Amino acid sequence: MLNTRTADIEQQASTGSLPGWDDVDALVSATYDRLRDDRDGTVADYIPKLAAAEPDQFGIAVADVAGGTHDVGDAWAPFTIQSISKAFVYALVAEVLGHEVVGERIGVNNTGLPFDSVVAIELNDGHPMNPMVNAGAIATTALLPGASPDEKWSRLVAALSAFAGHRLSIDEQVYASESASNDRNRALGQLLRSYGRLDADPAETVDLYTRQCALLVSAHDLAVMGATLADGGVNPVSGEQVVSPEVCRDTLAVLAASGLYEHSGEWLFEIGVPGKSGVSGGIVAIAPGKGAIGAFSPRLDEAGNSVRGQRAAAQLSRALGLNVFASRSAAAASGARI
Ligand code: GLU
Repeated sequence: MLNTRTADIEQQASTGSLPGWDDVDALVSATYDRLRDDRDGTVADYIPKLAAAEPDQFGIAVADVAGGTHDVGDAWAPFTIQSISKAFVYALVAEVLGHEVVGERIGVNNTGLPFDSVVAIELNDGHPMNPMVNAGAIATTALLPGASPDEKWSRLVAALSAFAGHRLSIDEQVYASESASNDRNRALGQLLRSYGRLDADPAETVDLYTRQCALLVSAHDLAVMGATLADGGVNPVSGEQVVSPEVCRDTLAVLAASGLYEHSGEWLFEIGVPGKSGVSGGIVAIAPGKGAIGAFSPRLDEAGNSVRGQRAAAQLSRALGLNVFASRSAAAASGARI
C-alpha cells in the first residue's frame, strides 16, 4: 500500500470550491517543504534516455478554474509527458468520435495488469479495454482524425498545446531513444491488428504514440491541462474551449478507473480524485469543478508512478478538500440538530 504520509494532515471535506488563493499558496509551499528531502523510488531506465533524468528534481503546481496558478520548486522544469498524454489524446479522440464509439471500440475498464501487458489483450479477445495503458492508448491514437500521420500529428499537437495554453515541442532525444527500444509497443500494435482492432497501420500508429509520449511539459503545464478537464473543457488561463464538458466527464471517469496503472484503486482510496501518471515522473490530479495539481519527481514505484508526486497529491488532496468521497453531514455543518 502506498505510504502517502498524510496521517497528521486533517482531511477536509469536499465542498464546491478551493480554499482562498493565499491558503492554497501556503499549502502548496508547505507540501513542497515536507517532501523536499523524500528520496524514495527509482528512476525509470527501460527507455535509455529517461535513465539520465535528474532524480532530485521536484516541482508542484496547482491551477484553479478561475485561472489562478501556484508554482513551487521545479514547477517549470521540462520533462516528457509519457503516459499522461494518453488522457489528453483520449479526450481529443472522444471529442471527434463521441461517447458511444470510443466507449465501445476502446473500452473503459481497468485491466488490472501492467501498462505494457500483452496478456491483457489475449485475455480480452484483442479488445484493448483500457485507454490508459499502452495497448488501449495505441488503439486510441489510431483513431485520431487525419488522412496521413502528419495530419494526425498536427491535430494531436494542436490539441495538447491548447490544453497547456502554449505550443508544446518534442524532446527529439527521448523520441529517438524510445523509438530504438520500443519493440514491445510495436508488438502490442501488431497484436491489436491481428485481432482486427486496429484499422490504421500499426508501425505508423506506434510511431505517433511514441512521439506523443515525447512531448515536453512541466508540472505547471500539467496543472493547467488538468484544470481544463476540471473546468468543462475551457482552459482557465487562456479561456479557450478545448473539448466539451461531456468529454471532460468521460475522460475523468476513465482516469478514476485506470489513471494510475494497476494501483488505480489505491490512488482513489488515498487521494480520491481522477489522476494520471507517466514514467518520466509526472502526475496530474484533477478535482472536477475546482482545479488540478501537477507534480514532477522522477523516482517511481514498481508500477511506474512517481512516489513523491503521489505523496504531494495525497497531502494536497487532504488539505485542500479535493477528495470527492469526503463529505460532512450537511446538518452538522449548518449547526442543525440530528
Ligand atoms: N512511452 C512509454 C511507453 O510506452 C509510456 C509509458 C508510461 O508512461 O506509462 O512505454
